[in-house]
Amino acid sequence: MKKSLLAAAFVASFLIGAVVALTPAEATGGGAFNYFPSNGWNGYRVFLSPAYHGGANKGCSGYVEDGLTTGAVDIAREAASGWGTDLLNRHYYVRVKMGVSAGLKVSDSNAWGADMHIAMHSNAKAKICGAGASYGGTLAIWEYSSQIALANQFKARIGPSSPGTGDDVCYVASCSQYPTLAELREPHAKAAYLEMEFHTYQLGVDWLLDRTWQWRIGWAVDKYWGYPRDLIY
Ligand SMILES: [Zn+2]
Repeated sequence: MKKSLLAAAFVASFLIGAVVALTPAEATGGGAFNYFPSNGWNGYRVFLSPAYHGGANKGCSGYVEDGLTTGAVDIAREAASGWGTDLLNRHYYVRVKMGVSAGLKVSDSNAWGADMHIAMHSNAKAKICGAGASYGGTLAIWEYSSQIALANQFKARIGPSSPGTGDDVCYVASCSQYPTLAELREPHAKAAYLEMEFHTYQLGVDWLLDRTWQWRIGWAVDKYWGYPRDLIY
């Protein structure tokens, strides 16, 4: 009930503003790219939080995981609106927030009223660019047991497309260097933390730069929520 009232209020405010702001697929504002589905909104807001560690997390072939407009930001924008059945085509309202700390992104996610918050990273270990034997895979990290079902979806949908064979769903303290992560602990939304491949392997970078798999993020979101297609406008 509360959700539908909020949605109605949003649509009303959107329509009032729509005369001057007919939504382009991608609109910038507040340090974010915002994507409102002009083909109908299912009422869900998905907040994509691409990595920003300061902007200089480098991998093979000059790949930068966390630049203002590189790496994870590109992946997030593709997931929102890109090749294949992306989040926008699946009727989600999407925000990609850039260039600020994890804490500020969580604040924005909560203020925006996100229903899902997805931290998006690529992983690193000693650079093994050029070697070919072993490739780390895609990790979907959880902190609370209530987050496992969502993590399972991300591993199942994204993992098979990434070259690494070490795909896993794992507890934060087991598969990160931290006992807890703000982006799993603090969002009001359902939260997931993705380490999509390793940018310290060339095959990993080749995949991260490929633009044909990011629709899988929308697939995982859709599977988790059971393909909500009851459009509210
Ligand atoms: Zn990262």
